[in-house]
Amino acid sequence: MSESDPATFPLERETVPPFDHVDLVTVRLPFLKPFAISTAVWTCKEALLLRLSSGSTVAWGECVADPDPFYASETTVSAAHIIRDFLLPLVEPGITLSELDSRFRHVRGHQMAKATVENAVVDLIARTKDVPLHELLGAPRKKVPSGLSIGLQDSPSALVEEVAEAVGRGYHRIKVKVKKGKDIDYVSAVRDRFPDIPLMADANGDYSLGDAEHLARLDAFSLMMIEQPLSYSDIYEHSILQKSLATPLCLDESIHGLADLVAAIDLGACRILNLKQGRVGGLLESLRLVRHAAARGVPVWSGGMDETGIGRAVNIHLQTVEGITLPGDTSETSHYFEKDLVEPAVVLDDEGFIEVPEGPGFGARVQLDRLDDLTLKRERLK
Ligand SMILES: [Mg+2]
Repeated sequence: MSESDPATFPLERETVPPFDHVDLVTVRLPFLKPFAISTAVWTCKEALLLRLSSGSTVAWGECVADPDPFYASETTVSAAHIIRDFLLPLVEPGITLSELDSRFRHVRGHQMAKATVENAVVDLIARTKDVPLHELLGAPRKKVPSGLSIGLQDSPSALVEEVAEAVGRGYHRIKVKVKKGKDIDYVSAVRDRFPDIPLMADANGDYSLGDAEHLARLDAFSLMMIEQPLSYSDIYEHSILQKSLATPLCLDESIHGLADLVAAIDLGACRILNLKQGRVGGLLESLRLVRHAAARGVPVWSGGMDETGIGRAVNIHLQTVEGITLPGDTSETSHYFEKDLVEPAVVLDDEGFIEVPEGPGFGARVQLDRLDDLTLKRERLK
């Protein structure tokens, strides 16, 4: 494709820089409070990190997989295996990101592992060129809106308390996790107290099509969207469910790449997209999804996986891209961690916005003493 071909992104023409060492580092960061969704409860963030070094330049990629397969099928251990044995051998200095992307397609699935490698390579490109990540994505620096995802709570009043705290902090949008038996009363209690806040609910696939009438009761609460009510692997039944709901459906777990999004929008299963760059194979595929969604008039927001400061910073840079139009899941570091791997911590300004971290690459600086404290395992691959 030519330089001016609108089907390509400038990022695709960037080339993989030379690198000396490659390490996999598994870290564990305790959460300040447990985070519960319909399928799991996590008390800490265990993350797989990929470190690429070239002389004194060090780049990082964070894998969004959990240590368990309860949100997605990939895990930190499966991602390490795929990176070590299949993806890293395909990473050759001098090839373009477009070529790297083509090579990675030979490996089926494993988008989280692919995104980890891609993110580290893109960070290394940015640091080698001494430019911030958002510039490589073709987007100007700007503040991004904030949003908080609140896990399942023990009672509607406990949820209202959590929401009140978030509203007080200035978050632009509140998401509440729901599941069977913890839905209508919980959302209703929040709406009674906060009639006007931008509010949405995420079920992480806890319902089935037989629950359509029950889910339609959520229409009474003017939610921005209901996220992934049906199975993590379904698109078609969401399209049927959407016909009986006024509230727009948003897909998360079901979308692994552009082909899934094309199908979901064509079927009428996805009126809003939760884009997790780590779930779709990385930043380049994310740009493709954002462009397609924009062309089809589908709003996009950036989801979170309770990332450490590395992945959190990448998500912030991604949200500078035109076409990501709604507040996402990016929240303050202090909501999750007492001690993060990076400086500076993510904070909200007086109007609830988040600054893009300054500096080359994803900007935030990994603190080596903290990294050592929080490291469970380290493996040198090269
Ligand atoms: Mg979700």
